[in-house]
Amino acid sequence: MNPIELSFEFFPPKTQEGVEKLRATRAQLLPLKPKFVSVTFGAGGSTQQGTLDTVIDMAQGGLEAAPHLSCIGSSKESLRAILNQYRSHGIRHIVALRGDLPSGMGEVGELRYASELVSFIRAEFGDWFCIEVAAYPEYHPQSRSPRHDLENFARKVKAGADSAITQYFFNADAYFHFVDDARKLGVDVPIVPGIMPITNFSQLMRFSEMCGAEVPRWIARRLESFGDDREAIRAFGLDVVTRLCQRLVDAGVPGLHFYTLNGAAATKAICERLGL
Ligand code: FAD
Repeated sequence: MNPIELSFEFFPPKTQEGVEKLRATRAQLLPLKPKFVSVTFGAGGSTQQGTLDTVIDMAQGGLEAAPHLSCIGSSKESLRAILNQYRSHGIRHIVALRGDLPSGMGEVGELRYASELVSFIRAEFGDWFCIEVAAYPEYHPQSRSPRHDLENFARKVKAGADSAITQYFFNADAYFHFVDDARKLGVDVPIVPGIMPITNFSQLMRFSEMCGAEVPRWIARRLESFGDDREAIRAFGLDVVTRLCQRLVDAGVPGLHFYTLNGAAATKAICERLGL
């Protein structure tokens, strides 16, 4: 048995080709025996059907699947309907988020923060769902201050979350400090590091800019220097991220959650190098 629990994140494919590719990815990752896989959800419900279809497909493939659910831009009624649909399919695991509205679009909705969504799920569905929430070792980009963000994180755990998954990071110390500080605020649930394999420089920089994750200068400069040499980027990315994971595993993290971007190769290679 793996000493630490693995989980893999996917997004709902938009085309039949994407569906087939994801099934192939799932087949390649299945031997790693993930505890669960999660499937992202577009804010405001833009991927609602795709998330449900993907979760059902994953479950049929023998995996425990957890849909993400974001509350921003949604009414309680529509959230209740989605949760009822999941329950009717026997889904018992969920990642509860606030989400982000595309800039300038739409109303905030009835629930403003993930903590309110967690409270809503607990009030309406009791203990049916195991609830994951998001954590930000480098702090959420919109947070007023690190302290305020930590307190908000503790609030959503106290609202009834069972576990947390972090935004990705490349600086392990940010994660260790965050966990220590959260423990001091009474957070006692597992805080599982989110891991982003590095396979594409421009995509990594774009994502990191959007979500507020720091790509250390030395990593960015090395990746940039490889230009279009995808093999060099892949090899360097594999070294960097494996080393990060090894440090986390050595420190006793409860699990690793991989942002797979629906590809298997990088995640599989890292896990193999770690001997998982
Ligand atoms: P919250 O915990 O609500 O926090 C959002 C901000 O509000 C923070 O700055 C926080 O400090 C502040 N805040 C919280 N409570 C209060 C309060 N009571 N008063 C004042 N301020 C407060 N996005 C998607 O759209 N779909 C996905 O599937 C998805 N999956 C994700 C999975 C993971 C593991 C992670 C880490 C992120 C994911 N995201 C996803 C991105 C996420 O939706 C965004 O980061 C979003 O901006 C914040 O969501 P949250 O649930 O962390 O929000």
